Amino acid sequence: APASTSAGASPTASPTTTSLDHYWMPFTANRYFKTHPKLVTKAEGSYVTFADGRKAFDCLSGLWCSPLGHAHPKLVETVKRQAETVDFCAPFQIANPWAHQLAGKIAGMAPAGMNRVFFTNSGSEAVDTALKIAMAYHRLRGEAGRTRFIGRERGYHGVGFGGISVGGLGPNRKMFSPLTLPGVDHLPHTHNLKEMAFTRGQPTWGAHLADELERIVALHDASNIAAVIVEPFAGSTGILVPPVGYLQRLREICTKHGILLIFDEVISGFGRLGSNFGAQHYGVTPDLMTFAKQVTNGVIPMGGVIAKQEIYDTFMTGPEHAIEFSHGYTYSGHPMAAAVGLTVLDLMQQDGLIQRAAEMAPVIEDAFHSLKGEPGILDIRNAGLSAAVELEPIAGKPGLRALNLFEAAIDEGQLFRAAGDTLAVAPPYLVSKDEIGRMVDTIRKLVRKC
Ligand code: PLP
Repeated sequence: APASTSAGASPTASPTTTSLDHYWMPFTANRYFKTHPKLVTKAEGSYVTFADGRKAFDCLSGLWCSPLGHAHPKLVETVKRQAETVDFCAPFQIANPWAHQLAGKIAGMAPAGMNRVFFTNSGSEAVDTALKIAMAYHRLRGEAGRTRFIGRERGYHGVGFGGISVGGLGPNRKMFSPLTLPGVDHLPHTHNLKEMAFTRGQPTWGAHLADELERIVALHDASNIAAVIVEPFAGSTGILVPPVGYLQRLREICTKHGILLIFDEVISGFGRLGSNFGAQHYGVTPDLMTFAKQVTNGVIPMGGVIAKQEIYDTFMTGPEHAIEFSHGYTYSGHPMAAAVGLTVLDLMQQDGLIQRAAEMAPVIEDAFHSLKGEPGILDIRNAGLSAAVELEPIAGKPGLRALNLFEAAIDEGQLFRAAGDTLAVAPPYLVSKDEIGRMVDTIRKLVRKC
């Protein structure tokens, strides 16, 4: 490739001085991006500014990961201080104190009994780690036959081979068949426009869909099944909210058959639902939980798995000097990420931010449901401090309607997330009533004309 002569990361970087010829962008229409560039050159508080001067409210808190807003002074200070103190230390056989402190803090926020935290760098790695823990746990207990996993249609669990195997999104899977995990089944998704369109919060229809798990167990026999993995509410695929009683039913069936239940809390963890985790919000305790994103406010990448003490204890056998779980990453428990995580969780507690998310949940619910009846809106959904509007697709061009609205909204000062034909929001926890009002006004204005 020709050497790049493009400008570096200066605060004044613009599409005219920044080459777009080298970066292969993830989950992006790369050719479209080149003709419609959107480069964020400043992020401060709840707003981002683009190189062309447009400024927009960050309706999705980055990518569900910056609930404290951008450039928070305490986080800036933490990054600087930590870089000067311990910027890196190997994670194997030695450790940094911040990772241990953060693990304790996270365990303190998790449901009782979920005491052990394994750190990764992303949600995808967290998911693959959780699947490996589940499989190894059964083997250690003498049930090596338990290797199968059960995910859910429309589930998103990142892009590792484990994650796409248990995930339920055709486009993410179709290029990679045969997938690396051979024994995977999928529960039906719980989204049904006929039965639940425009439901506020949790639908009352659909708990029976969990009973499909009994059918799958009968087919394979429980002795072959390691774990079921679901998101408490599915965020990336357009805010699909679990029916009342659905997660409880999954829990009962898993317990009955000795199958581990994994909640992928990469989006629901750390307050998005107004509770520490989705587990507490929906009153169901899984055996393993994944997290990522909000734990560091997106400032430094980090993810992880929280395990029940009993699962951890199962690994703690064999000679004391021997490694109990042959798994880990160079950057597991990275001191920069751990220090930022500690500050984030302190701020959430000191400033009552999770409580604040809970208080704003009904505000976003009311505001978004006021859009019912506007042209081309098929459904409106909400969970905690997040909401989505599902739009009628343009015939033969799925996704284009939401993309057009997403583009037009930036001109109106709103940065939404377009996923398929759904527009989603999950604003910073300090969002005001007026800011929520402006999001909804923008959607109202644009659906009437686009
Ligand atoms: N799991 C869930 C539920 C997610 O929503 C995501 C990302 O959105 C992931 C896993 C993957 O996380 P990452 O992109 O950090 O790998």
